[in-house]
Amino acid sequence: MLPQTDKYSSLRERMVKEQIIERGISDRATLNAMRKVPRHLFVPADIADEAYDDNPLPIGYGQTISQPYIVAYMTEISRPTPKKKVLEIGTGSGYQAAVIAEITDTVYTIEIIPELAKEATERFKKLGYKNIITRYGDGYQGWPEHSPFDIIIVTAAAEKIPQPLLDQLAENGRLVIPVGGPYAVQELVLVVKKNGKTESKRLTYVRFVPFRRL
Ligand code: SAH
Repeated sequence: MLPQTDKYSSLRERMVKEQIIERGISDRATLNAMRKVPRHLFVPADIADEAYDDNPLPIGYGQTISQPYIVAYMTEISRPTPKKKVLEIGTGSGYQAAVIAEITDTVYTIEIIPELAKEATERFKKLGYKNIITRYGDGYQGWPEHSPFDIIIVTAAAEKIPQPLLDQLAENGRLVIPVGGPYAVQELVLVVKKNGKTESKRLTYVRFVPFRRL
């Protein structure tokens, strides 16, 4: 029998090849991050063996960790580079934050369910992610003290893009957000800020848990 680490690293390698590269993700940094982050440590222990499957998984409190491909897609489209400052709304397990923190300088992440915020904070500490700063709260208002952000990633579907997030986007910044109602068709939208103006582009259909308000 293979030791656990070997078992998961080969599953992870296969995930990257079959689910991510074969579907067109090519950004080196994104692929390296997906190869590195131990996704099985971001899901409940009893389903660790399913962590590299091609689907979202439950993480408790009615929430989910996104499908690996969606995490890779949102990471690539946000164009992360080492100096960028990132805001994520919807920490959940912390997996998306960890993937982007492998590439960028600092990741600020906000989670509305206190238990999940606490668990993610502990997970980041245990795994040594010193460049992720987690806060419990309603991400609708963004994090003005640390704005502007080069990248904002929202991982819960909102009916409308929160204005504070648009305001906190830096010049040439990129915001990726699923837009649509909880039981309706949702579209992943990319917003880019140029000369102070925002331009949106619809990317693909997605299914996310709803954006909630306190
Ligand atoms: N990025 C996460 C995905 C978690 S699912 C991961 O990689 O695991 C989306 C998360 O968004 C849920 O945990 C949900 O509680 C949270 N959420 C929903 N509305 C929110 C809000 N207004 N502010 C902050 N977090 C929110």
